[in-house]
Amino acid sequence: MLTVEALTKTYKTGDKALRSVSFTVPKGQVVGLIGPSGAGKSTLIRCINRLVEPSEGRVLLNDLDITGLPAGGLRRARRQIGMIFQEYALVERLSVMENVLSGRLGYVGFWRSFLRRFPGEDVENAFRLLDRVGLIDHADKRADALSGGQRQRVGIARALAQDPELLLIDEPTASLDPKTSRQIMRLIVEICAERGLPAIINIHDVVLAQQFTQRIIGLQAGQIVFDGTPDLLDEGV
Ligand code: ADP
Ligand code: ADP
Repeated sequence: MLTVEALTKTYKTGDKALRSVSFTVPKGQVVGLIGPSGAGKSTLIRCINRLVEPSEGRVLLNDLDITGLPAGGLRRARRQIGMIFQEYALVERLSVMENVLSGRLGYVGFWRSFLRRFPGEDVENAFRLLDRVGLIDHADKRADALSGGQRQRVGIARALAQDPELLLIDEPTASLDPKTSRQIMRLIVEICAERGLPAIINIHDVVLAQQFTQRIIGLQAGQIVFDGTPDLLDEGV
């Protein structure tokens, strides 16, 4: 479970990007984070993984107080947070399999591991994940030979390979056509339910968010202005 308590971020410029934002996300729930540009969505995501230092408040992942960790303890915490990106962030000239394994081993360890061999259990796990996202027949292809939808499936498998406790997902469908976008959203929501993974999806497309997520959080000027099921959003709350 993710708990965000009175999270506040004031940038050095004086911009109040978050003003006491609080919510919890239980295991298996996928939250669609919506709001106009500048609302604070990226800041919220970045405060949760501490790419941005919050000014006040706390972020807890299960029992781990992420905001209380010293900088040296962040690597372990970040291993528990799977990230999925708009532009996939794959290593283009490596194979699908190698990209997935990079999630397991972490970026630095990944290059080092070229000199060794990948542990067999990691490879087996990566095959299982590739099967789950529908790419088992593409394991040996280079990432740059794939379509956008396939690349995002690799991005999902890579995030899962690190066995995360939380997924943070930034505009996963912004570069995809509508049909592929729906397939990717459906896959993410199904996998989170199967694994009991909480997830936050920063998503521009409100209709897509309503169609696939169980809960919408609306941010505006750094504050939560809506938090509820997608059907309530239609009633203009
Ligand atoms: P969103 O992702 O919803 O578009 P952001 O979190 O990017 O919103 O931005 C929220 C507010 O914080 C905006 O006013 C933005 O200009 C400001 N902001 C974002 N990043 C920085 C930064 N690094 N330094 C100063 N202000 C920032
Ligand atoms: P996004 O597409 O995620 O909303 P932006 O285009 O808003 O990103 O921001 C790009 C980068 O610029 C980010 O690193 C963000 O933190 C930074 N940034 C955004 N707004 C400001 C600002 N007002 N002052 C300084 N940096 C900012």
